[in-house]
Amino acid sequence: MTTDLVSTIKANLAEIDSNIRKMAVHTGTKHPAPKLIAVSKVQPDDRVEAALNAGHRVYGENRVQEAESRWKERRKAYPDLELHLIGGLQTNKAAEAVALFDYIHSVDRPKLVKALATEMKKQEKFLPVYIQVNTGREDQKSGCLQEDIASLLGLCTENGLTVLGLMCIPPVDDDPSLHFALLRKLALKHGLKHLSMGMSGDYALAASMGATDIRVGTAVFGARDYG
Ligand SMILES: *Cc1c(COP(=O)(O)O)cnc(C)c1O
Repeated sequence: MTTDLVSTIKANLAEIDSNIRKMAVHTGTKHPAPKLIAVSKVQPDDRVEAALNAGHRVYGENRVQEAESRWKERRKAYPDLELHLIGGLQTNKAAEAVALFDYIHSVDRPKLVKALATEMKKQEKFLPVYIQVNTGREDQKSGCLQEDIASLLGLCTENGLTVLGLMCIPPVDDDPSLHFALLRKLALKHGLKHLSMGMSGDYALAASMGATDIRVGTAVFGARDYG
């Protein structure tokens, strides 16, 4: 790991932090600046080490297996680490997800609620969760439809899951502010306080609209190389 890389990532983190603080002031609301979840999926290890070196401790991953190989050992070295699962979850990965993560942002169907509840009881590890909402009603996207939030929330409560709030990923071609506003309205309606919304391209906007958690990858680490 070069000192260059550490200072670049440190500067990226500082810039994002400063932007969201400004935005949170703009809204005039009392809620603090959102939590910055640095999305480390697909990023090379040296960038992640650089972010750890810069003192950042809150990370997001979208795949259980990748997250396990990156974080399982590192967790021991960083006891104050906080790991968020932000990607879709298969029920057959529920055990691993509960064991590794601290928060799950992608609860979106009854079968998953039941699988997570069973695992949490078994492991005696009760992670707070978010319900992912498919605000753009896209066929290919995970997340429940807004009319299914109430029943899913009820099922979570029945099964002992603590739901902090809602999460969304706006359709790429839409104005994200429409989706952020909808998510906020839905959270209010259901009495939920947390809003997981905003990525590299729109985190400042999300912060200005009441996000409590922003999920930022590229703007922290640089572009992902899927090649
Ligand atoms: C990859 C990912 C992000 C981060 O995306 P960037 O544009 O790199 O900031 C945020 N949320 C989810 C659910 C993701 O999968």
